[in-house]
Amino acid sequence: MNLASFPRWRALLATLLALLIAVAPVHAQLPQLGDAGDLSTGAERKLGERIARELYRDPDYIDDPVIVEYVQGIWQALLDASRARGELTPELDERFAWQVLLGKDRTINAFALPGGWMGLNSGLVAATANRDELASVLAHEMSHVTQRHISRMVAQQSQQAPWMIAAMVLSALVVSKSPQAAGAVAAGSQGLAMQQQLNFSRDMEREADRIGFGVMSAAGFEPQGFVTMFEKLQQASRLNDSGAFPYLRTHPMTTERAADMQARQQLAARAPVQPTLEHAVVSARAKVISNSGVDSLRSMVADAESASLASQPRARQAHLLYAGTLAAARLRDAGVARQLLSRLDGVVAGDAAAQRQARLLAAELATAAQDWPRVLQLVDAVSERRPEMLLVCQAWTQSGRAREAAERLQSWVATRPRDAGAWQLLSSAYQAQGQSLRAVRADAEARVAQLDFQAALDRLRAAQDMMRKGGSSDYIEASIIDTRARQVASLLREQSLER
Ligand SMILES: [Zn+2]
Repeated sequence: MNLASFPRWRALLATLLALLIAVAPVHAQLPQLGDAGDLSTGAERKLGERIARELYRDPDYIDDPVIVEYVQGIWQALLDASRARGELTPELDERFAWQVLLGKDRTINAFALPGGWMGLNSGLVAATANRDELASVLAHEMSHVTQRHISRMVAQQSQQAPWMIAAMVLSALVVSKSPQAAGAVAAGSQGLAMQQQLNFSRDMEREADRIGFGVMSAAGFEPQGFVTMFEKLQQASRLNDSGAFPYLRTHPMTTERAADMQARQQLAARAPVQPTLEHAVVSARAKVISNSGVDSLRSMVADAESASLASQPRARQAHLLYAGTLAAARLRDAGVARQLLSRLDGVVAGDAAAQRQARLLAAELATAAQDWPRVLQLVDAVSERRPEMLLVCQAWTQSGRAREAAERLQSWVATRPRDAGAWQLLSSAYQAQGQSLRAVRADAEARVAQLDFQAALDRLRAAQDMMRKGGSSDYIEASIIDTRARQVASLLREQSLER
């Protein structure tokens, strides 16, 4: 159900950025580092929510259950280690979001945002050779937040209104996505100068490296991942001066940093880390999602069908076959997809985690073909894991078992109220049973989970109208809707006061 069409945030940003450039000269001089003190955790969280709200509305935001679950597993391990080491204090732990937002974007980028939000591009996941490399980037970014680098950086901008700082961060992200397009917007040097104010200092980078290295090692990842990822980024920066690796721009690769890393490399000198088969297929998935052009998809199918595949290491074979299968499915070539998938099954046989991924992929193909009995045959209906749960509930909803789906999803969101994807599916399950009021409220809760209080309130008001006109007999739901409408209206008022 799509009651409103959202403005594309790039257009919004162009306007914000234009405003920003107009206002900036008034606040030209910067205070010394630490002058204004740290931003309070509450203020930083609110600033982060403002930015996250825009990212959720970005057409490139994706809730890919498979990649999100994989990244989340690494992220949780890092959070646990950071807690155990005392880097993540109980206060920050409780007040910040500690949530990763995945973007469908080819560029190799990850960025820490205020309030414990973290942006991660699918291109970065695709570029990692093993989970240790992915962990090293996440640990580095996490450390920028736990060490309050962001709060210090933002405190330097304390003369600026929060919406201006949010606009600066968002415009910096637009620049990192498309340097040319943003260059046209931020034509003046003032725009660039402001983005530079948002860069971390070298000391901060060194600290994030040092703490991040400690956290990822303590979490049980191979320290070598830190070193190989660094080398990969450094090599990319030498080869590529075109701005295709924006990670490098916000994280300057200085020779000093490289020397620090070499010292660590001696500590971490071990045999090269072999990717797990699971990492090989998850990074293949990220590659397909990042490169959705027909030519890219065709070349991935060709790589999977190549005669030389059999001579490659097993992880490489799994990677190429997974990418080929998904690419063929995206090209709507079901026959080729099935063929490649059965070869993938052979390669991953005996590896439980990778076999599960192959099964989820098979269920995804069956979902695309609307073959619901097949989906239910492939996926464990009682699994507590999110990708399985979503596939099963969708298949139930579409095959006359919407009531079971709704029950399952209700108990899911009761403990995970921020899962917008589950709320959305719950809304369809209610709709399939003709329970329009509940469907509209679940849709509203999905908007709340993504911090879009205005859209949520619009839906709740529509539900109240339905109650008035239809004389609904669902009294429990009616009272929930009234209560939620009041609560969301107050959240919205609070949000609009933060100028
Ligand atoms: Zn950094």
